[in-house]
Amino acid sequence: MPNPTPVRRRASFVFLPPVVAATVGISLLVQGAFGQPNFELLEERAEQRELAGWVVPTLELTDYLYPRLATGFAGSEWVVVNKLRPLSPLDFEPQVREISSSESLDNSRGLELRDVAATALEAMASEMLFQGAGQMFVNSAYRSYEYQRELFVDKVDQYGEAEALVRSAKAGHSEHQTGLAVDVSVPAQGCAIMQCFGDTVAGKWIAENSWKFGYIVRYERDTTSITGYTYEPWHLRYVGIEIARTYANNGIHTLEDFWGFPAAENYPEIAESTID
Ligand SMILES: [Zn+2]
Repeated sequence: MPNPTPVRRRASFVFLPPVVAATVGISLLVQGAFGQPNFELLEERAEQRELAGWVVPTLELTDYLYPRLATGFAGSEWVVVNKLRPLSPLDFEPQVREISSSESLDNSRGLELRDVAATALEAMASEMLFQGAGQMFVNSAYRSYEYQRELFVDKVDQYGEAEALVRSAKAGHSEHQTGLAVDVSVPAQGCAIMQCFGDTVAGKWIAENSWKFGYIVRYERDTTSITGYTYEPWHLRYVGIEIARTYANNGIHTLEDFWGFPAAENYPEIAESTID
């Protein structure tokens, strides 16, 4: 090691790239985040990544601890919800507002999102129409714990439990309950809430441009073994522009990979039943 001195925070630090931060963070936690961090190992890893072409910020505990902790807060834009990470509390209720209908956005169902997510969606729809990719329709947005519970029970009745589990979330485990997730379509182009939406002009435009508005396509093709859900090109999750940009720039496909969380294909064996 050429430089064994402790890592110092650089003034120019920006919260990037979280994958590195997460990985380094895990190393720190494993080695005793509340004891003495192993700076030598940190530097060694950082050097390896630099050699591999990464731009590696210098990290201190506080640089990654807050972002990672925020992924556990139901009210955070960075919250990560999946089959292994229920919302806390399970019946969390965000503050939401109705998404504004306009020439570019049809919210005739009167659906709601958190203000940041609604504002971003309105801006995205406006740009989408402007670029000729169609008028967006809001199929689903905020769903309460109770509504999600009923929805899941309906899916079980309709498809059986195994199939219901990859098509819908149990209450307390749905991104829709955060008020940050929305299902959209462009009725004029067909394939509403179908996987072929990904091949429409609108679907392609969204996959390419949604990050500019702070959204990601949360359940991409071939990520079921990590996210636990089948491909849903219509399901957008607001994570904020900072995260969405980094996600897109680094070719990341799941929030689990982004933050370095374990794959969440299935619910834990011993899970509290949320459908009884
Ligand atoms: Zn959805």
